[in-house]
Parts: sequence; structure tokens; C-alpha cells
Amino acid sequence: MPIPTELVGSLPRPAKLQDAYQAYDDGKITYEELQAEQDEAAADSIKRLEATGQPVVTDGEQRESSFATYPITDTLAGTGLADNLAADGQYFAIFDDGHHRQLPRLTGGPFRYKTYAAEFVRKNTAIASHPVKQAVIAPSMLMLLHPLEGEIPGYSREEFLSDLCDEVEKDIRQCFDAGAVRVSIDFTEGRLANKNDSRNPWTGKDMLQEFIDLNNRVIDRFSPEERRNIGIHTCPGGDCDSVHSKDVPYEKLLSKMFQLNAGYFLIQCASEEDKEAVYKLCGQYSREDADGVAQVCFMGVINPLSPAVETPEQVKQDLVTAARHIPVDRLGATDDCGFSPFSRDLKPKHGSPDFARDIAMQKISARLEGARLASEELGV
Ligand SMILES: [Zn+2]
Repeated sequence: MPIPTELVGSLPRPAKLQDAYQAYDDGKITYEELQAEQDEAAADSIKRLEATGQPVVTDGEQRESSFATYPITDTLAGTGLADNLAADGQYFAIFDDGHHRQLPRLTGGPFRYKTYAAEFVRKNTAIASHPVKQAVIAPSMLMLLHPLEGEIPGYSREEFLSDLCDEVEKDIRQCFDAGAVRVSIDFTEGRLANKNDSRNPWTGKDMLQEFIDLNNRVIDRFSPEERRNIGIHTCPGGDCDSVHSKDVPYEKLLSKMFQLNAGYFLIQCASEEDKEAVYKLCGQYSREDADGVAQVCFMGVINPLSPAVETPEQVKQDLVTAARHIPVDRLGATDDCGFSPFSRDLKPKHGSPDFARDIAMQKISARLEGARLASEELGV
């Protein structure tokens, strides 16, 4: 079988759509008008992805406030925030360029999603001619909605985690029921968990094992057959062309991440200084048998934070090198991250989100062609 390729999920939102989000926050347009803009950008994403030959497509997350907050708020500014949440939660991350992203704060129970990702899958399968995938958020990210210290009166931390696991399971199952062929779980907080950034207290609490155990509480509810198509995405962040945890030694994460009983992993690698060290770690720690499923390592061969377009030859070379350390039947190709995980992202290194959208398509084409060349060279 040729080396499979998959995108993480997001694409830059066109400037016109980002303006519509702002206009909605400002009360200048209705939710229906915002949705019309989202639908138009989503249809354009699907059409352009299909034109590249991408076998499984997404809507580029054009309808989502962000990869992390789509279940609980309509916009990043907090318009349409779900019940029992306030706007002033913990920082999720402080990025290298100094900007930060903040989460809402849980104020009581019960915790419920207001939007399930299946809503997007239903719209996308109706208009796509290729199969559709969907990215969902990990329970380990949303557990950070709970204040780091203490308990919420009348709603224990364990009650919250139990509700959270139920919601994430429902989110994944409904995506499959709506026709998604793959569901990947965004786990960008994994590497960040060893950051020890004093400005962001949760990153100093050694939470990685807790994250993994919590995520497995959900993943283990699925059969091996289902888990073959449930993935995990890891990266050092990818927002406004900046990162949050690339300075954290990768081995701290990779030595533990494959404990997750997922069937495949979308692993940032193209932007690493020593890519071969990452292939080695993935070869060493990924499992042939993760409770009934072989773990496939989709290695990042495209850097969405840089406007420089990789060549198919570069991609091929990376994959051929990776195949020296990872069994080729458990090797895939992906991008290091979504191309714009947050709805408001001006893509500063690219100059504009519209240009970044064009570049993303060229990069995806290079990934597809590079994977084809590598498959040919490796005889698979
Ligand atoms: Zn990412």
C-alpha cells in the first residue's frame, strides 16, 4: 500500500470570513449571516483540497472558533459561550512571539458541549466528493477549563472529568455516524505540558501523564476497529506563524505519547532541527500492538508556519529517511500542524491569510506528490 497522507484539519480563514467573525462580535451581522460566510469558505476549502488530490478532505475548520473551543463558543471573543463558563480562564498557551490564547473558566456543572463536530461533518459530506475527516479536541485540553487549584462548589473535579469524557466520546462517535472516515484528536498541549513557563502555571505541574491517562479513558471506549481510524495530533503549536513549545525536548513527549491507544499519530517533524532523531524516537516508542491496533506514524513533512513551499523531492527524501527507522507499513505523511488552528489568524509571515491559503494548497500538493515518489522509491 502506498504511503498514506492526511492533513491535520485547519486552513487559514479568508480575510473576508475573519472580518465576518468580527462583525458578528460587534453585533453588525446576524449568526445566520456569519454562517453563510462560513459555509462559503468551507465549500471553497473542500473544492480546493479535492483539486490537489487530497484523498480525505476537511472544511479547513472554517466554521470553528478554534480547534479547541468549537464545542463551547461561537467566536474567540466569547460570543455564544456555553453554559457554566466564564471568559476569564487560564492561558492555554503563551507563544514565542509573545501573544497568548486564553481558555474560558468552568464556573459550575454540568459541563456540556453546545456544538458537536458532527454538525460540520454532516454539512461537509453533503458537498464533498472525497471522503471527509474531522479533527476534535482532546479531553486533556478541556480539562484546563477547570481552575488549576481547588474545587468548584457543588461540582467535583471528578464529576467534571466524567462529564467531559462522555462529551468527547459523543463528539467522536457522532462524527463517525455522520460519515467521517477518520477522526483525529488534537493534542497540542502534550508537548507544552513540560514547558515549565512560570507565566503559565499549568505548564509547571507535570501534567503529561494525567493528560494521557484521561485521553485513554475516552480512547479505550472504542474497539480496535474503530481506533484504527482514531488519530492523535501533536505539535509545538501553530498560531500566527508562531509556536509555544518547540523548546521543550521532544523525547519528553514522544517517550510517553504512544501510550495512547490510538491507531495513528499526526506528528510535527518538518520544522525540527534534527528530523532523523524524531523518526528514531517514533520508531522506538510507537507500538505494533496498541491493545489490538498497530500505530501508524504520519510524519510531518510540511511546515505550515513558513511560506516557503517544500518540494516533492524534499518530502520524498524525508519519508525515505523516516522509513529507515519506522516500519514502512506504519509510516504516513502529514503537515506539522493545521494551517490556522484559530479563526483569527493574520498569518504574519505570509503577509495575509488569503495568500497563506494559496500557499497551503501548494504545500499540500507537494506532500501528496512527495509521498507518491517515496512510495515508488520504497516499492510500496
Ligand atoms: Zn498542531
